[in-house]
Amino acid sequence: MIDLRLTDEQQLLQQTARDFARAEIAPVAERVARERLDEPWPACQAMFRRGWELGFTRLLLPEQHGGGGARMIDAALLLEELGAADVAIAADLFALNMTVPLIVLAGGNDAQRAELLGRIVERPVVLSGALSEPNVAGSELFTQDPSPKHGIRTRARRDGEGYRIDGQKSAFVTNAGIADYYFVLARTADDRPLWESISVFFVDAQTRGLTPGKRTRMSGWLTGHHAEVMLDGVEVPASRLIGSEGAGARIMGSLPQMPIGLAAAYVGLARRIYEYALDYAGRRQSMGVPIVRHQAVALKLAEMYADYQSARLALWDAALDCDLDPMRAATLKAPFAKTLAVDASIRNAERAVQILGAYGITEEYPTARWLNDAWIGYSCDFTRDMLRLGMVPFLPGPPT
Ligand SMILES: Cc1cc2nc3c(=O)[nH]c(=O)nc-3n(C[C@H](O)[C@H](O)[C@H](O)COP(=O)(O)OP(=O)(O)OC[C@H]3O[C@@H](n4cnc5c(N)ncnc54)[C@H](O)[C@@H]3O)c2cc1C
Repeated sequence: MIDLRLTDEQQLLQQTARDFARAEIAPVAERVARERLDEPWPACQAMFRRGWELGFTRLLLPEQHGGGGARMIDAALLLEELGAADVAIAADLFALNMTVPLIVLAGGNDAQRAELLGRIVERPVVLSGALSEPNVAGSELFTQDPSPKHGIRTRARRDGEGYRIDGQKSAFVTNAGIADYYFVLARTADDRPLWESISVFFVDAQTRGLTPGKRTRMSGWLTGHHAEVMLDGVEVPASRLIGSEGAGARIMGSLPQMPIGLAAAYVGLARRIYEYALDYAGRRQSMGVPIVRHQAVALKLAEMYADYQSARLALWDAALDCDLDPMRAATLKAPFAKTLAVDASIRNAERAVQILGAYGITEEYPTARWLNDAWIGYSCDFTRDMLRLGMVPFLPGPPT
């Protein structure tokens, strides 16, 4: 049976998230934009702590590890609400911190699960995934090309009882500089294809040799914190290698929750833009009537509604598939949901700018800011084109 009605618990979670987003996230996002804060993290910290107190960041972890034992569909409902208040806070602080610990769950051994997940849930820690690199195309991160010359250069070498990591990560690493722990992707072999030679390390932010760069200023996602990470002889014990050497691609590739989290934040943005434009069109008068009464405006609003609803259905489908068929979710449904949600946001932001006329591009109104937020979705995680190309080998044929 296909039943898209929400349970009582899901409705409660959705309402809790909506209340939190309106009361805690929206004012912070407004302030960061209004005051053009160069360092937004201090303004976000108290809000992030309250989200942690509500259990948001540990929602997906099993109860035995101190988590909420929720399913991805629950996380999608929550993240949509947070994304409606601010897509960067939803993505960087909540979706990322909610899904990155799943690396330990999926790839770690029992001791790592107990120790590392314990550290992650005990206080409002911020996590970071340091994967992409400045001189290697981000799109090469999980290349299927067999040549060992392609893909990341950061190298982890055996050194006594542990590893020594050297390399550099790109200026876009989310939460670099404010994180407590980093998941660092590094090569543990030079002579094998990338997918057999990358490994994931759990690195404490205080480790000597790990140095984040200056915060990267972007045209949108103003509340986000992104920076380079320099790794210069970073020593980590062998117990911080998640799983085994060369398991990195398998672990990362088996986690559809990450792109689904982004998709949920973007569905929230697409919805918020629609709601805002609808409200504006009901109040702005032209020729003696609200502009919503002019067909050209009404049609745009109907398309905005259709776009965000379609993206939401794809999101729910991908989230539900996380439990039913995680591989199908990872290869097909999650990339589809993420690209659809970003496309819906971009189109809705463009339409909203038009509906608001000249006001739409001023800083007094949020629509131009949302347009920048929407465009950033094109290349965060993987680019739209790379996600779509990655789906091709898995496209289903006609039913038998
Ligand atoms: C908001 C945001 C957050 C991010 N967070 C993180 C993070 O937390 N951690 C992290 O490590 N990185 C992060 N990144 C980096 C992100 O993973 C990369 O930007 C992304 O993978 C694209 O890589 P690139 O920018 O090097 O583009 P490139 O790979 O240089 O691509 C440039 C263009 O060429 C196209 N292209 C490249 N190769 C091919 C190909 N083989 N076939 C067809 N087209 C191709 C791309 O689609 C794109 O249009 C983040 C980026 C953003 C914008």
